Amino acid sequence: MALLPPLDTPTMMVMVAAGTLSMAIAMSVVRPRRREGLGLWALALVAHAVTYLLFLLRGQVTDWISVVLANTLLALVFALLLGAVAEFHGRTMPRLQMALPVVATAALMTLFLQSYQGRLLSSSFLLALQIALILRALWRPDAPAQLRGALLVSVALGAQGLLLLGRGLWYAIKGAPQASFVGNGTGQSITLLSAFVVVLLASLGFILMAKDRADAANRHLARHDELTGLANRRMLLQTLARDVARAIRARQPYALLLLDVDHFKAINDTHGHAAGDAVLQHLAGLLRQRLRAQDLAGRWGGEEFLLLLPGTDPGGGQIAAEKLRHMVAQSPCTFQGKSIAFTISIGRCTESLEPGDQPEHLIAAADEALYAAKREGRNRVESAPLSRMHALIGARPAPARA
Ligand code: GH3
Ligand code: MG
Ligand code: MG
Repeated sequence: MALLPPLDTPTMMVMVAAGTLSMAIAMSVVRPRRREGLGLWALALVAHAVTYLLFLLRGQVTDWISVVLANTLLALVFALLLGAVAEFHGRTMPRLQMALPVVATAALMTLFLQSYQGRLLSSSFLLALQIALILRALWRPDAPAQLRGALLVSVALGAQGLLLLGRGLWYAIKGAPQASFVGNGTGQSITLLSAFVVVLLASLGFILMAKDRADAANRHLARHDELTGLANRRMLLQTLARDVARAIRARQPYALLLLDVDHFKAINDTHGHAAGDAVLQHLAGLLRQRLRAQDLAGRWGGEEFLLLLPGTDPGGGQIAAEKLRHMVAQSPCTFQGKSIAFTISIGRCTESLEPGDQPEHLIAAADEALYAAKREGRNRVESAPLSRMHALIGARPAPARA
């Protein structure tokens, strides 16, 4: 008995067309506004459905339609999938790789219109080649990792590619069966069944890729400041809480610097709000330059930034703050051809932490030091000790000053 009893080919073809079309509709619904390849992928699915409907019409329409046109459409399906992967990764369309197999299919199908073996072999090998091109585009070294989805697409398409290669080799050695494509047979059943399963799995994998990327972008947005790309207040507080607990356990020093741009309102008033934004971005770039792997810089609010420097003692904290202050004073921001010089004041809290110390105590101390720096004339670094009267300060977070 055959492993898979022959299934009714016309029924299977209708099933493939219906399944593919349903998936295309679902994909059009989830399609986000951004160009992510999902639109091209859905278009490929529609072409796939039409292909199988044309196969179904074999004998009722001219061979040119049910053979040449149908197989060319099938090649177009894989060309569109290749385009979808390229668009997903933000690359230019590989036009040649997309067009050549489609043109070759049309030519070979016309050439082998009377030879079932010729058509079977050429379509098997050409489609396998197209699948190889898609997999290559999916796993190019510059492709970002959307691992789960890419794996699902690869397993589905890879299995289909191997099946096509196997089919091609088998019929190359054994010779093609007499039965035409619409006849019932185990080979036919396997081909159609795999077409059905592959479309569903690969499409779900591609949707998963888009979803994973959107999730990663949202996670990034939730933890970063949009203007400067630095950590936002939420991430700063999370990291500070973790760092403080760790520093207390390890009895290690910890440095926290609170930076504020001097007379920032005047920059906005003189050069405009966009120039103010550019100064903040410029400052963020300078902060990034000075970071060690274990440090974190973030935007605390408005024109105030927080720098978390684990394992930094008071001397090291003072040197780091002074270097930063000096560097900023020497690095004006260029905006629309204008050079905008500016300075920062820094409040420093550098302590060996003890049990009972809280993140907000460090921030309050740095805030106090920052006020002192402003009072003393700006463009300077001041420090304040950590008040250990925990009960007095309590868990009150330091007020943010824009
Ligand atoms: P000081 O030296 O005392 O710090 O004076 P200052 O002018 O820097 O401080 P002030 O708090 O008076 O002004 C801060 C200004 O920062 C006011 C606010 O409009 C501006 N600001 C806050 N966030 C942004 C932003 O994202 N972009 C721009 N361009 N301006 C901002
Ligand atoms: Mg300011
Ligand atoms: Mg301020």
